[in-house]
Amino acid sequence: MHKNIKNSCVNDFDPSALDEITAVKQILKSIKTIKKIETINIMDSLGRIASKNIKSSINIPSFRNSAMDGYALNIKNLEKNKYSLKEQGISLAGQAYDKKLKDKETIRVMTGAVIPNNADAVIMKEMVDIEGDIILFPNFIQKNQNIRNIGEDIKKGDIVIKKGRQINYVDLGILSSLGIGKIDVFRKPIISFFSTGDELISINKKLKKGLIYDSNRYLLFGLLSELPVQIKDMGVVKDNEEILVKKLKQCAKVSDIIITTGGVSVGDADYIKSALKKVGKVNFWKIAIKPGRPLAYGKINNASFFGLPGNPVSAAVTFQIFIIPAIKKMFQMIASSKLTIKAQVKSALSKKKGRVEYKRGLLEQKDGVNTVNTTGLQGSNILSSLSKANCYIRLSSETEKIKKGDTVEVIPFNINL
Ligand code: AMP
Ligand code: MG
Repeated sequence: MHKNIKNSCVNDFDPSALDEITAVKQILKSIKTIKKIETINIMDSLGRIASKNIKSSINIPSFRNSAMDGYALNIKNLEKNKYSLKEQGISLAGQAYDKKLKDKETIRVMTGAVIPNNADAVIMKEMVDIEGDIILFPNFIQKNQNIRNIGEDIKKGDIVIKKGRQINYVDLGILSSLGIGKIDVFRKPIISFFSTGDELISINKKLKKGLIYDSNRYLLFGLLSELPVQIKDMGVVKDNEEILVKKLKQCAKVSDIIITTGGVSVGDADYIKSALKKVGKVNFWKIAIKPGRPLAYGKINNASFFGLPGNPVSAAVTFQIFIIPAIKKMFQMIASSKLTIKAQVKSALSKKKGRVEYKRGLLEQKDGVNTVNTTGLQGSNILSSLSKANCYIRLSSETEKIKKGDTVEVIPFNINL
């Protein structure tokens, strides 16, 4: 029987490969959310995911106070007293000042200090003239000027943290300002990973012809370290189905997610798919993307299994496209609205039809115009071009040729946009 040779020369279409969007949907459908909750100190909560809404039990500010170092007054008194008032006293931050302003009086107030109930403006110290204990005010004063009102920042009952939010440094500020010292977060999923390949040696051994250092495990460690997950490094496994089966079983006992790299293609020493079949279920193993076409997804008991390709760039790209959404789903994380960024390509690009392609790019902005260029060789083994990149250029499955100056979609990373 003839293979569809003509088709495979002209384009990259593979009828047995799932498209990227369907693959993500299928993965998300099969991912179970985490139920277990931990109560932790807010100091330990950076990057963790809130497991329920948190409401404020107080107003912030909880009392009317001054936004400036200056003088608190009641504007009506000023009009009666020709823009001068007598300094009655001083309200310092941290003190419970409770006197009222009398007809001819003003009080000196510090930033954050309580102001009298009947004060309706605070004038900056720099705006007044001082003659002994008489304070001369400017003649244009606005009501409520420099007064911080009760609840203007956060009202009692407001939801300050939503379920599914990843806690950041601002949240630590908010929570502590409300006197909240502990919060409930989802437990960390356990993610175990190992590299496969007879050619892999550890980084402390001497390199010999035909061998390479195992870099994927370090790359994965780096990617996982940025997430609120518990990492289990399971080492390197030879291209041997029996050993793979054993290792997968061992991982499945203790993991929510298992990730492997390598051995997932159609080579003579690619045993991941057959090993997965023996211990669990293969949901799919080919996706119409580049890099990363061979990617096995399946289940081993309750654990989700991702068999990523061996080439380092493919492993990194597929991790970001398929594993990150899976982890977010586990946490019921709030989907952030995705910013799409468009840029003009600095030089022509080409690809075959049939696969979505992620090229490594360098995005730059000059005079408000975004431009992007590829960062060198685009082979899935070329990790150095990922290192030089700050974005992926995403080209749709149908795209073939892109002219210099054409607009493309870019997905930035490691960038301050
Ligand atoms: P495979 O999918 O096993 O055929 O591997 C594809 C390519 O990726 C081969 O050139 C491998 O040598 C390389 N590769 C596989 N695993 C790793 C790894 N852990 N670190 C670096 N390169 C790898
Ligand atoms: Mg291999």
